[in-house]
Amino acid sequence: MITITNLHKQFASLEVLKGISMTVEKGKVVVIIGPSGSGKTTLLRCLNALEIPTTGSVQIGEVKLDFSQKVDRSSIPRLRKQTGMVFQSYNLFPHMTALENVMEGPVTVKKENKEQAKTKAAALLAKVGLGDKLDHYPAQLSGGQQQRVGIARALAMDPQVMLFDEPTSALDPELVGEVLKVMKELAMEGMTMVVVTHEMGFAREVADEVIFMDQGVIVEHDSPQKLFNQPREDRTRQFLQHLK
Ligand code: ADP
Repeated sequence: MITITNLHKQFASLEVLKGISMTVEKGKVVVIIGPSGSGKTTLLRCLNALEIPTTGSVQIGEVKLDFSQKVDRSSIPRLRKQTGMVFQSYNLFPHMTALENVMEGPVTVKKENKEQAKTKAAALLAKVGLGDKLDHYPAQLSGGQQQRVGIARALAMDPQVMLFDEPTSALDPELVGEVLKVMKELAMEGMTMVVVTHEMGFAREVADEVIFMDQGVIVEHDSPQKLFNQPREDRTRQFLQHLK
């Protein structure tokens, strides 16, 4: 479903991604862990061309962009349409209800019929446990509820792949579980997911594969069992020890 080949990203003189190659099969959940500043967020943003890689290629489903050559600008929105992104800060429209937030993309971007978009948005909000909060504004919702609206909003665009960038980092500890639960349910339904997170419990339980990144490279890529219990690389071991 996803193929990344020799991806590099440079900000001025700072090389943040130094040749990342990886694949994600359809229906798999890949969790990316690593120290702050290792390039995890940049990698996720390169996947949907929110950041334009310096060189290398990204393919999601049928859409392939080779940034080593001149990129056809029209392929960027096509790549973006393949993905739904959930950010650390939920970025909901404050003047719109939960339902309106979820309907917005399908109606304005995908030109879906308003009634159909509304029915779909209500179903998605019910799916994330907010069936009774359709008419609430973001300010009337907890952080965990807002983030679940964020997930429903991303799903409303019918993405092939869901990208999560530290989706629970801004939440009070007691609200983290309700968001992880929704993500776990999505994984069990077979959604292809790439998740940057510090939640090692989630990585152990839900990930099919875990990637440990450090200083712009993939240091280790393995099953959660192997990576957490028998890491091959010293750098991985040191990172995991610091978490304890
Ligand atoms: P992580 O998600 O692992 O914490 P990031 O991908 O956010 O890492 O950042 C990796 C490095 O890239 C950091 O040193 C960060 O300061 C730098 N960086 C990220 N985005 C930009 C940007 N837009 N301009 C300049 N430097 C950036």
